[in-house]
Amino acid sequence: VALTKEDIIRLVDEEGVQFIRMQFTDIFGQMKNVAITADQLGKALRGEIMIDGSSIEGFVRIEESDQYLHPDLSTFAILPWRPQYGRVARLICDVYNPDGLPFVGDPRQVLKTQLKRASDMGFTFYAGPECEFFLFQTDDHGKPTNQTTDNAGYFDLGPLDQGESTRREICLNLEEMGFEIEASHHEVAKGQHEIDFKYAEALTAADNIMTFKLAVKTIAQMNGLHATFMPKPVAGEAGSGMHVNMSLFHDGKNAFYDESDPMGISQLARHFIAGLLAHVQGFTAITNPLVNSYKRLVPGYEAPCYLAWSAGNRSALVRIPTPRGNATRVELRSPDPACNPYLTLAVCLAAGLDGIEQQLSLPEEINENVYSFTPQQLKDRHIDKLPATLDGALTALTQDQVVQDALGTHITEQYIAGKRREWEAYRSQVSQWELDQYLVSF
Ligand code: GLU
Ligand code: MG
Ligand code: MG
Repeated sequence: VALTKEDIIRLVDEEGVQFIRMQFTDIFGQMKNVAITADQLGKALRGEIMIDGSSIEGFVRIEESDQYLHPDLSTFAILPWRPQYGRVARLICDVYNPDGLPFVGDPRQVLKTQLKRASDMGFTFYAGPECEFFLFQTDDHGKPTNQTTDNAGYFDLGPLDQGESTRREICLNLEEMGFEIEASHHEVAKGQHEIDFKYAEALTAADNIMTFKLAVKTIAQMNGLHATFMPKPVAGEAGSGMHVNMSLFHDGKNAFYDESDPMGISQLARHFIAGLLAHVQGFTAITNPLVNSYKRLVPGYEAPCYLAWSAGNRSALVRIPTPRGNATRVELRSPDPACNPYLTLAVCLAAGLDGIEQQLSLPEEINENVYSFTPQQLKDRHIDKLPATLDGALTALTQDQVVQDALGTHITEQYIAGKRREWEAYRSQVSQWELDQYLVSF
């Protein structure tokens, strides 16, 4: 909904809002915010709230640290889980330099730039995420664990456990914030859940993912549980993905649908998928940002490892879910919920648009279970792999100009530097697995 400054001033007054959180996201996907009192609202709406960018990881150097928050008025929302008296609202903001230009290190800006590129080509980009997460117990000191008392599995209806009532509360809170919850269910692993909300134009979809993660974590904590979007918290169990459903609309019509095609998908959709496949190795460091992300991308847990596409097969990287017509979409199954959603949607769109611009052609569809292919079969059918580690993904990113162009030089450099430090810190650890394997045998 389009809101004016006057609407917001009136809403803050009518609803008894006392605090407004001015939110933005750093390049590594962490939500940041500055809280202001309602008295400061005028200043905030004029874009005069300042932040010190040098204290935010990956933002700017100390010599150029003053930055300004420009709120996106359409994102005004009251946080329903905060007190009902002296209420708290939020505004999602864009980050600007003192010279009045958008800051190149603002992930929201990166997504906006790709959306502009799509719109110049006549397209609106829609995205629908499927966020999975775990709800775990906390210990006697209130510290998070990766333990759960829940024993349910996929789509199970339990005797109402703590997890289920928490999931229900999350859905109700999100609905109050205007989310349309399409489905919520128990996932495959013990303690694992999924909540799907309606697809939206991509900028809103990315904002929604950030709001979603905050709501899930906050409401879990209010219920004495710990919610995590860590991609693979328990070895030997399914990990958490964030499948991204994508479509391009042209003149109000879904441009991925083609009635006359045997599969019901357009040539444009085929180019888009080919673009995803061409750049997925280059953008995996963005969609799968943690050392731990790569522990999820292993065979056998419905998470992809190979560069294959298929209409139905859940071992493939790209799937085309059954609905057609305006619901025709491409599902990319590699991203995980630890990613920065703005950067993720930006690189996916950049890859797809590149496929369209270069008219890339689609390799053959793979309908078998790729997990069971031998190395020779993979080779014979020209099926490539996703990077196996964060290190490999970072190297692939340095080799993909299309992805780097979408991120811009500033973010590319900051991101790679930060993630290389993370990898180096991990690489020098000695894990329990190594001790168990080697301590006695060698
Ligand atoms: N949890 C699986 C993953 O890691 C996905 C399961 C599903 O198909 O929803 O991506
Ligand atoms: Mg799922
Ligand atoms: Mg899915």
